[in-house]
Amino acid sequence: MAWFRNLTKVSSIKSSLKNTHPFPLLASSLTHFSTEANKHNQAPPGLGPTRPNEKPRVVVLGTGWAGCRLMKGLDTNIYDVVCVSPRNHMVFTPLLASTCVGTLEFRSVAEPIGRIQPAISREPGSYFFLSNCTAIDTDNHLVHCQTVTDGVDSLDPWKFKISYDKLVIALGAQPLTFGIHGVEEHAIFLREVYHAQEIRRKLLLNLMLSDMPGISQEEKSRLLHCVVVGGGPTGVEFSGELSDFIMKDVRQRYAHVKDKIHVTLIEANEILSSFDDRLRQYATKQLTKSGVHLVRGIVKDVKAQKLILNDGTEVPYGLLVWSTGVGPSPLVNSLELPKAPGGRIGVDEWLRAPSVQDVFSIGDCSGFLESTGKPTLPALAQVAERQGKYMANLLNKIGKAGGGRANSANGVELGEPFVYRHLGSMATIGRYKALVDLRQSKESKGIALAGFTSWFIWRSAYLTRVISWRNRFYVAINWLTTFVFGRDISRI
Ligand SMILES: Cc1cc2nc3c(=O)[nH]c(=O)nc-3n(C[C@H](O)[C@H](O)[C@H](O)COP(=O)(O)OP(=O)(O)OC[C@H]3O[C@@H](n4cnc5c(N)ncnc54)[C@H](O)[C@@H]3O)c2cc1C
Repeated sequence: MAWFRNLTKVSSIKSSLKNTHPFPLLASSLTHFSTEANKHNQAPPGLGPTRPNEKPRVVVLGTGWAGCRLMKGLDTNIYDVVCVSPRNHMVFTPLLASTCVGTLEFRSVAEPIGRIQPAISREPGSYFFLSNCTAIDTDNHLVHCQTVTDGVDSLDPWKFKISYDKLVIALGAQPLTFGIHGVEEHAIFLREVYHAQEIRRKLLLNLMLSDMPGISQEEKSRLLHCVVVGGGPTGVEFSGELSDFIMKDVRQRYAHVKDKIHVTLIEANEILSSFDDRLRQYATKQLTKSGVHLVRGIVKDVKAQKLILNDGTEVPYGLLVWSTGVGPSPLVNSLELPKAPGGRIGVDEWLRAPSVQDVFSIGDCSGFLESTGKPTLPALAQVAERQGKYMANLLNKIGKAGGGRANSANGVELGEPFVYRHLGSMATIGRYKALVDLRQSKESKGIALAGFTSWFIWRSAYLTRVISWRNRFYVAINWLTTFVFGRDISRI
């Protein structure tokens, strides 16, 4: 229980206060920082190398599935944890599409870092820095960062450096646009909570504008045309959520425009190509039944209000969501580390970046080096999460064996390498239907279901995977509220 933990924590702090410095937390916190005063002694602003009387420091870059699972499992009696990320929460991505149409509230899918690893907000040597990593100096065990601020009304961003004993790069990936002109400017991606907020606001704005006096029929049709590019699980799940929203909520509450709103899903190949034929055909049938127009095509150009396919067809849109897979970020591309196929950071079987000391990489930004003979793992939460868990155990083991400090892990027995076993794939397609494929691969035997039972499995599985009890409770209540009262359609 959180209140009980807090109570015991307060009493232990109280007793330590009696014997030590009047402000022990403050005093020890400040010793980690090089400040304005020691700037004059040429020390860089930031966190300097750890001293022998301090715990070794693990620096984690990123607060996604991989970074957060790692932080959750790190033994903070052995290490101080410093996390650098431009967002102070983890996003429960499998349920993100549901927030765009109001099935779930945004906070139900965002888990604050302080709840995942409480030491970050309590321990004197552990920190979370709302910043971007801009470069890594592996020779000097240094990470270069720049703060994230909020434009002119806040502060100008500034740079600082952090020394690490161990560094774990968990920077994720970024959406692929294949260099198609206009995507960055006009389409909305679906990876962060603010993307879902942007989608929801635009969708509701278009619905309201289309109901205004003086709008032409042509403009009305455009505003109410929602186009999704990319038929992978994210694109399909979003299309399914959108069609549910239209069939259940728009029909009731925007009755004047209910026949004009429609969804088009554009995919260059087959939708849901990672699922087998039978499940794919089922999904195609169900999506079509729900009114989603499936188009086989390649987008050539994106303009402000229309996109152009490579056969010359022009598709006007009011909302454009882009979900065509992910690739390495510019920072990952710029790192002078050996690369795996696809430009990811190359790692060995223990998820170490070879050729440099004390650097590890996990999640979507990393891949096995060709020399390991292992395949590149898919960009999935289940891969990232298990790599995070493995990494926490590995670092704890190294720390216990006395190898926690920089350049001190040579000779430490690392134990079993990381092995990935695929647990299966799931995707919702709307109207209380989902696909569940629990087989290792399309060819192996096992359970592969589609329909209501799969939808029930999908919901139950994700409800149990939501990180905290607080968010599990939010999700359950949101689902119940939506079921009883419909989705919230206020444009906040
Ligand atoms: C809408 C959606 C639905 C999905 N559904 C599923 C699903 O059902 N099942 C499944 O298995 N997978 C799913 N995925 C994929 C899954 O979310 C990813 O594979 C997973 O998030 C990868 O975890 P990660 O930690 O590697 O990266 P991410 O979760 O992307 O985290 C990367 C972190 O790095 C931070 N970062 C980026 N740049 C910097 C920088 N310069 N400095 C510091 N920090 C930085 C980011 O802010 C972020 O915190 C889905 C993805 C999306 C977008």
